[in-house]
Amino acid sequence: MAFDSIPKDQRALRACLSCSLVKAIEQFENDGCDNCEEFLRMKNNRDQVYDCTSNNFDGMIAVMSPDDSWVCKWQRINRFTKGIYAISVSGRLPPNVVREMKNRGITYRVRDTSQR
Ligand SMILES: [Zn+2]
Repeated sequence: MAFDSIPKDQRALRACLSCSLVKAIEQFENDGCDNCEEFLRMKNNRDQVYDCTSNNFDGMIAVMSPDDSWVCKWQRINRFTKGIYAISVSGRLPPNVVREMKNRGITYRVRDTSQR
């Protein structure tokens, strides 16, 4: 299995605070989040990338077929695109982003499993 999208330099990796997708900061800046770009709008906006992603995350799972992966059902990411996901992400989305999600009928589920 080839993970071409994973850069060798892991320090540059960040996890989306909304869906926990893990990508390099440049990928978030160039393409936005594959799942959340609609409301996070990180494309070409590095500040927004810093606000909506975190470099402090634990565990990575590779999701190849989100529809039938038990891991994804457990992580509640089975509706999302395939890729690499963090198991726990530290941090929270800015309140204005959470409001935007609410307006769209999207429930923000905090991905930080260490703060419960
Ligand atoms: Zn996302």
